[in-house]
Amino acid sequence: MECFGIIQRVFLVIIGAMKYHIWTEGCQMNEADSDRVASALEHLGYSYSPVIEEADVIVLNTCVVRQSAEEKAIGRLTTLYPVKRSRPEVVINMMGCMVGIKENNPLRKRYPLVDVFSPPSDPSPLIEFLIQRDIHDEEVAATARRYALMDGDIKLPDFQSGKQVSGFIPIVYGCSHACAYCIIPYRRGIERSRPPEEILKEAESLVSQGVKEITLLGQIVDRYGKDEPGFPTLDKLLNQLSKIDGLERIRFLTSHPNWMTDALLDEVASNPKVMPHIEIPNQAGDDKVLENMRRGYTADQYRKLVHKIRERIPGVSIATDIIVGFPGETEEQFQNTYDLLAELRLDMAHLARYSPRTGTLSERTMPDDVADEEKWRRFRALEKLQMEVVTEIHARYLGQTVPILFEGIEKKRWMGRTPTNKLVFVSSEEDLLGKVLPVHITWTGPWSMLGELA
Ligand code: SAM
Repeated sequence: MECFGIIQRVFLVIIGAMKYHIWTEGCQMNEADSDRVASALEHLGYSYSPVIEEADVIVLNTCVVRQSAEEKAIGRLTTLYPVKRSRPEVVINMMGCMVGIKENNPLRKRYPLVDVFSPPSDPSPLIEFLIQRDIHDEEVAATARRYALMDGDIKLPDFQSGKQVSGFIPIVYGCSHACAYCIIPYRRGIERSRPPEEILKEAESLVSQGVKEITLLGQIVDRYGKDEPGFPTLDKLLNQLSKIDGLERIRFLTSHPNWMTDALLDEVASNPKVMPHIEIPNQAGDDKVLENMRRGYTADQYRKLVHKIRERIPGVSIATDIIVGFPGETEEQFQNTYDLLAELRLDMAHLARYSPRTGTLSERTMPDDVADEEKWRRFRALEKLQMEVVTEIHARYLGQTVPILFEGIEKKRWMGRTPTNKLVFVSSEEDLLGKVLPVHITWTGPWSMLGELA
């Protein structure tokens, strides 16, 4: 009986009838990890299904950066109990930061419906499980494993191939900075840069499948290569990548104020393929809070860096991350953050209310003493300020003609981005997918702009 089951499954994999579904929570790094799992599964012969009930393999890619993300993942897992009850052969894989990099017995005990747990960025436990289960012939298994995991040969899921304009490539895994509030180093391990040849091969592979824009990812992306003697620095890697024919645009995130070099800024300024957009989290505008967060710079150093970026890269857009309600943050300290944002007038602020993450320095040693309503009040104050700032910045685009890379259709209009990463919508009957075209901006708002092909 079991033998028949195996043969039937192998046959279904061969004819591409076995399906997978991936649910992703969290940051771009998790999205990139999900793409890699999808790639590995496609190499094994599985095809994507948007319908969870049709899937033979269900991957939950989890995030724990904030409490709400963790709750969402648990909620999603709970909905899978009836699926597993009616079809016990369905493989449920939990991966990502909730699992972490160490053996996680408590999770195994708490969620027995999960068949495979995988650490962040590592599809191999799932692939091993499927290979062991479905294919007994060791030679076939070894070949499948090699192809499924071969770095630099990423295969986009069939439903995305030729349709995905923008792709992510993780270039630095993990993080060794250990900001007081951040769980990433505990879950994704120490900083590891990927070999440049592997990155270049992966970029070429994505471009050959229709991708026009690549975003390089790392928790502190500008530390690329610093952990491996002989690896190029980020500016040199960007330069090498820009030589790939067919690749139109390159972006990178996230930067840390202490690691941004002049060479990197000069590469962005002088290389037309590297987009003038810098994501550089500030987290707070108060020196004491920054010290408590273990960020390693002062508000004034951040201010001077923003001025330098603007001087060296004319027309650049700058995005930041801010956490409000960090332990001990007083009204006055929050006001310093507010004032710095009001002064610097950045293009985007990703705002978060502090949530203690188990095991981090702040969770262990600093009481979470800012009330939830107060965190919300500070969050909304920054949200309102930022909306005014962004409305004003966007208004400067009115009447300008800007090159837009079109990524797809949303609500019956073509959606694309400016080099500075602003969303622009255009109505057109033409197929604009993957094209970079000049667009005349006719309306601007805080979240997006409208335009016409010039
Ligand atoms: N590596 C980047 C850095 O150096 O800031 C960003 C990493 S993190 C995945 C993305 C953002 O989540 C952070 O910039 C921070 O604003 C927010 N974040 C991280 N831990 C948090 C926590 N415990 N509570 C609230 N927000 C948090």
